[in-house]
Amino acid sequence: MADLFLNYINGEWRESGSGQLIDSINPANREVIGSVQSSTIEDVNDAIQAANDAKKSWRQLGQYNRGQILYKVAEILEKNLEDVAQNLTKEMGKTLPEAIGETQRGISILKYYASEGTRKEGDVIPSSDKDALMFTKRVPLGVVGIITPWNFPVAIPIWKIAPALVYGNTVVFKPASEAAVTAAKIVKCFDEAGLPPGVLNFITGSGSKVGDALINSKNIHGITFTGSENTGALVAKAASANGVKYQLEMGGKNPVIVLDDANLNSAVSAVLSGAFKSTGQKCTASSRVIVQSGIYEQFKSALLEETSKITIGDGLLSDTWMGPCASESQYNTVLEYIQIGKDEGANVIFGGKPVETSSSGFYVEPTIFENVTSNMRIAQEEIFGPVIALIKVDSTDEAVEVANDTRYGLSASLFTTNIGSALTFMDEIEAGLVRVNAESAGVELQAPFGGMKSSSSGTREQGEAAKEFYTSIKTVFVKAE
Ligand code: NAD
Repeated sequence: MADLFLNYINGEWRESGSGQLIDSINPANREVIGSVQSSTIEDVNDAIQAANDAKKSWRQLGQYNRGQILYKVAEILEKNLEDVAQNLTKEMGKTLPEAIGETQRGISILKYYASEGTRKEGDVIPSSDKDALMFTKRVPLGVVGIITPWNFPVAIPIWKIAPALVYGNTVVFKPASEAAVTAAKIVKCFDEAGLPPGVLNFITGSGSKVGDALINSKNIHGITFTGSENTGALVAKAASANGVKYQLEMGGKNPVIVLDDANLNSAVSAVLSGAFKSTGQKCTASSRVIVQSGIYEQFKSALLEETSKITIGDGLLSDTWMGPCASESQYNTVLEYIQIGKDEGANVIFGGKPVETSSSGFYVEPTIFENVTSNMRIAQEEIFGPVIALIKVDSTDEAVEVANDTRYGLSASLFTTNIGSALTFMDEIEAGLVRVNAESAGVELQAPFGGMKSSSSGTREQGEAAKEFYTSIKTVFVKAE
């Protein structure tokens, strides 16, 4: 029987009263890799209560001491790297090297925020009164709800939990069910590091029940969400109604522009990796490739040639370059969008079909459409799979106009050797992550991360930017008598 992973509330691994389980399925072969509980609203309330009970003593522990605990978590995750990464590949399908890379990133993020324990908590500001001391002091929000998607089940929870904790908040964490076993393994590392009871609580279950109870609670003080635009809108509505600070990072329809003067090889390899690594299931994945007419045919044939070399299979196998879609529903969505593209009149010039295997995994071919116009659904809606749309344009201005013709604005990249074109792009592109001669899907943990337009609430995660969300500022004025 597959392992069962319980909720973690007030420092204990607890059974839910529901008695119902959710199986986690390996998308490479449909085997059950573990189960989590379908929790109840009472479980959520218990977790929120535990987080509220723990918040005063956690705040009083001090930033330095909280940072020291995160160093221990990093050490423990490092020891469990192989197990966590293997599990990640089995649970959501990305290849083992990608899963190892993600887990290593999680360790680096933990160390980064651990070292925040030794950095400043405020600024001294000169007062107009020479006898006064005026300074700012950052204080935690209180209890923060954390809701995460399935596509980066190690890195995203850690890039939310680590800053929340080091800045003195306590946490109730609800992962996506499709990747909840990996999430439980991360929470185990915090448990082993000796985190005091109630500081981090972990609840599994559906978004519509457990997620809904968390976002509508009047007893939380912040909510950070990464996932789809539709769910993000619900989070924003509930948080606004309760006066809770919130942060949303959502979908993308990320463009890559390739100009006539681009380095062809760099552009092709960046599009290949940006579009098809992780089976296109990154929020920063390249999905629209906007190519200037002078280089279009050359670029297309080089891209087709490289795409034909992609090997598809179980992410645990060393010769696999691209794994399956993460779930059956994701697989069905991707195939539906391929049909929509065909119906809209775009041409499939590579792939476009499911991959038949003996393992009955959720495999889809890397798929390239051409003759795509910006108004088509495949050029506007997030597919979240290994599908790209080639769009031909005549000029840099037209390329930027097409790139901006979407309600999303997460990441965008440009390939050019002309500094003037690069400067225009940096100014005009509507995206939170602007990349020149680099793939759309790169993120560095020490830099702010987040989108514009419908991709984000305009807040930023990671690096120093995280502090803005997880703390409030007190301005203190002290005068000697
Ligand atoms: P999703 O919105 O379906 O689910 C995300 C989380 O929200 C899950 O934990 C889910 O259980 C929960 N949820 C669902 N309904 C809820 C409700 N009514 N109330 C509260 N919580 C609820 O998204 P997903 O399919 O897991 O993830 C894919 C999406 O995430 C894509 O759109 C992708 O672009 C986006 N994403 C964005 C970023 C980013 O940083 N911008 C990073 C990764 C993924």
